[in-house]
Amino acid sequence: ANERESMYLVSEFAQTHFKQMLWESELGKAIGLSYFKERGFTDETIKKFELGYCLDQWDGFTTAALDKGYKLDYLEKTGLTIVKEDPNNPNSSRKFDRFKGRVMFPIHSLSGRVLGFGGRILTNDKKAAKYLNSPESDIYHKSKVLYGIYNAKQSIAKEDNCYLVEGYTDVIQFYQRGIHNVVSSSGTALTSEQIRLVNRLTKNITVLFDGDDAGLRASLRGIDIILEQGMNVRVCTFPQGEDPDSFAKNNELEDIVSYLEKNSKDFIQFKASLLVKEASNDPIKRADTVRDIVNSIAKIPDRIKKEIYIQECAQIMNISEAVLFNTLAQIGKKET
Ligand code: ATP
Ligand code: MN
Ligand code: MN
Ligand code: MN
Repeated sequence: ANERESMYLVSEFAQTHFKQMLWESELGKAIGLSYFKERGFTDETIKKFELGYCLDQWDGFTTAALDKGYKLDYLEKTGLTIVKEDPNNPNSSRKFDRFKGRVMFPIHSLSGRVLGFGGRILTNDKKAAKYLNSPESDIYHKSKVLYGIYNAKQSIAKEDNCYLVEGYTDVIQFYQRGIHNVVSSSGTALTSEQIRLVNRLTKNITVLFDGDDAGLRASLRGIDIILEQGMNVRVCTFPQGEDPDSFAKNNELEDIVSYLEKNSKDFIQFKASLLVKEASNDPIKRADTVRDIVNSIAKIPDRIKKEIYIQECAQIMNISEAVLFNTLAQIGKKET
């Protein structure tokens, strides 16, 4: 427990250091701060999300932390510092800042502690990862955190709905526009632990993934995980090539709100609409869609809701309820 506390403290220091570099160093202002401004973030937003910058030096952060008395052991355990042994000389190891030259997005727990970081590269270097995250550690479990949850929690409870987006900047741009009930799985495949965090605040999730193939597939995967926990899921897609960040950047709040209202579908309408989009009259594809929808309905714990969704599916897909109930019963048998 003491060890974890030390890891929290060093992460807290890192957040403070990266903020200081962003706001006070000449290079941080010229490179990091102007990058965030270009993305349309205001000073207030940048401060709200405690964004920062890690200077493009080998060990600027690590040296600052060691000078302040933070132990190399914890810098290494949080992944903030990478230590490389020299194979020819075991007594001399070299230390590097993991996030060298990146703008920094601290990832906070529900109670606001710094658990880890995401860092975005600023160059167009195709060989380097666009986003780099803290590695798994005793304080950072990526499958259990949702980016933005600390700033969003009150609004999620108040609005009784949670918007789920893919990336850091999607959360931030929505928040800046005035939609505060938004969190992100930050690129990792959605997990039931992440959904459980939301479940304590609301039973309603609206999935807003990117308007591309990857986003569509991710939304589809997310649906069952949400239904399994007895939660209601809606899906809203964006035009091809847009994500919530770009969409919110280019539209006013009222237009965003009305877009979300008009385009949010429940999971059955969403899955059925994918078939319609293919303009497919192919009976086999239709059958696959029906089966896929019934598979999702099977995940819902509540009997009454199951029944209501079966009715809806029968209507939308124009198929008899009896057949759907049969299919549902068969799925139930297979699983027990
Ligand atoms: P940006 O708008 O800054 O270019 P984005 O958030 O739109 O980025 P996407 O490519 O849509 O980025 O990816 C969604 C999320 O997936 C990112 O916010 C990030 O959390 C994660 N991600 C993207 N690329 C990588 C990567 N190479 N390594 C790790 N995580 C990544
Ligand atoms: Mn994407
Ligand atoms: Mn995106
Ligand atoms: Mn984007």
